[in-house]
Amino acid sequence: MRIILLGPPGAGKGTQARRLAERYGLAVVATGDTFREQIAARTPLGLRAKGFVDRGEYVPDDITTEMVIERLQRPDAREGFILDGYPRTVPQAQSLEGALAAHGHPLSAVLNFKISDAMAVKRLMARLVCANCKRSYNVEFKPPRVDGVCDVCGHALVNRSDDDEATIRRRLDVYHRETKPLVLYFWERGLLRDIDAEAPEEVVADRTIEAISDLLDTYE
Ligand SMILES: [Zn+2]
Repeated sequence: MRIILLGPPGAGKGTQARRLAERYGLAVVATGDTFREQIAARTPLGLRAKGFVDRGEYVPDDITTEMVIERLQRPDAREGFILDGYPRTVPQAQSLEGALAAHGHPLSAVLNFKISDAMAVKRLMARLVCANCKRSYNVEFKPPRVDGVCDVCGHALVNRSDDDEATIRRRLDVYHRETKPLVLYFWERGLLRDIDAEAPEEVVADRTIEAISDLLDTYE
C-alpha cells in the first residue's frame, strides 16, 4: 500500500501515520528526515542537496524525488509506505508518480487531513514533543499521562510552541496556497479522500481506515 498524507501542521498527520504504519506494516517516510539523513551521511544525492540548502535555496524537484525514491527502495518499505511532507507541488507529484509507475507500484491513496485554521492554531500553540522518541503530545487535546513525561519512553517533553499566532497563521496561509493545486490534481484522478481531522485521535484513525478501504474497493 502506497499512501500520501496531506494536511496542515497541527492536523495530526504524524500520529495517524504511525498508527497506519503499525496496522499495515508500512514505512513512514518523512521527507525532512530523509533529507537530513542523506546530507549527514554525505551521499552523492545528499551532497548535491546540501549546496542548495547551504545557500538557503529550494532543493530542485529532481533531486528531492530521487532521494525519496531511493528511500522507498529500502527493505522496510517492501510492503509499502506512507509519505509525509512530499510531494508539495504538482510537478513533484508528477515526477513521483512517474518514478513509482516505472517500478510498477502506483499510488494507492492520498489522504487529505482537514482542520480549521482556528483548530490548527490552538493545537500548535499547545504542542509538546518528546526530546527522545519525537512522539507528540498536546496539553489541551492529548496530554501525557504524567505531566511533562513521555508515555512511551519516559523522557522529558519539551514545548514546541516557539511560534506566535501570527507566524502560525502565515504558515497556514502558505500551506493552503501551495496545497490547493495538489489536492485538485489527486482528486481529479480519483486518488484523494478528505478526512475530517478535528475529532479525537481514535475517531480520526477509524475515518482514515474507512477512507483507505473505500479507495481500495474502488480500484478492485
Ligand atoms: Zn518518548
